[in-house]
Amino acid sequence: MAAVSPTVVHSTSPHARLTDSHGRVIHDLRVSITDRCNYKCVYCRTGEHGAQYPELAIEEYLRLIGLFVSLGVTKVRLTGGEPLLRRGLFELIQELARLRTLTDEPLDLALTTNGHLLDTLASPLKAAGLHRVTVSMDAVDEPTFERITRVPGSFQKVLSGVRAARAAGLTPLKINCVLLRGFNDGQVEAFAHFARQEDVAVRFIEFMPLEEDRLWTPAIVVPLKEIVARIGRVLPLVELPPREASETARRFGFSDGKGEIGIIAPVTQAFCGACSRVRLTSDGKIRTCLFSQIEHDLYGRMREGASDAELRAYIHRTVQGKEARHHIGEPGFLKPSRSMVHIGG
Ligand code: SAM
Repeated sequence: MAAVSPTVVHSTSPHARLTDSHGRVIHDLRVSITDRCNYKCVYCRTGEHGAQYPELAIEEYLRLIGLFVSLGVTKVRLTGGEPLLRRGLFELIQELARLRTLTDEPLDLALTTNGHLLDTLASPLKAAGLHRVTVSMDAVDEPTFERITRVPGSFQKVLSGVRAARAAGLTPLKINCVLLRGFNDGQVEAFAHFARQEDVAVRFIEFMPLEEDRLWTPAIVVPLKEIVARIGRVLPLVELPPREASETARRFGFSDGKGEIGIIAPVTQAFCGACSRVRLTSDGKIRTCLFSQIEHDLYGRMREGASDAELRAYIHRTVQGKEARHHIGEPGFLKPSRSMVHIGG
């Protein structure tokens, strides 16, 4: 790939920072770089569709991400689909690792993956400049895991991937686990032991209505309170203070300090008031909330020839309109037109 030079113009004006009309500062950008995935997790994809949305060229992601960084974004998470499938990923990471925030720090550069390709890619990803990864694992029991991913052999691959990521220093290493009642909720206690054995932070995520199939009901969600109570019965937990106001997980440590669990409870304890995130889809649309009903075509404007200043103004206007909160479980709740795999989790 030809060398890319991100067109970042850093403004020193504090007024340039992204804030929404509710006073929230936006400093966290999640970027989907493909909506293709090599897993067919039962709660995410029907398994019938591949990519539905176009992907941008790596240079185009770089320009758009650079604009957000010039507006105060300090944290970029690459996601998908499965980001490790994306050609050009290493060049993208190398270039992102060179960007500086408004306070002249390196970006906090993370990636969320199903871990399937991580055993061989962890070291090169670290060498390219990636700081840390979050790996999705919805069971620590092999048959349950593979019933969810619907890919034979996936459990051992992901386990090796987790270990390779830790050995490569892609840390702190987090494991995301989405619990579904009657499917994998029996794994809660085993995950607590796994967090300690593997010295990783396991994050249980409440299941949100963002699947391709129509699975979601309030009854299938395993609530935060239940998870904490169940783990606390087998291993004493101590709640840890949040590291930053916008932290999505409530964190708990074990009394001897080894391993950690966290619970992300968007359904039963929504954290929208402290949300600091916006998303960019693989086709270059801004989504100001996972549950947005509208998308904002940043890439469309770029393709029409908009200047950086015009694109920054567009980003500012879009972020101003960020939703106050989501309405999961409320009467009249509408699922967004895209499911999680096509938005970028
Ligand atoms: N392929 C990557 C992976 O597996 O981590 C990145 C994309 S995946 C969509 C990102 C995260 O979203 C995963 O941790 C997945 O478990 C989570 N996820 C997917 N659908 C979800 C849903 N309906 N509710 C909560 N989390 C969900």
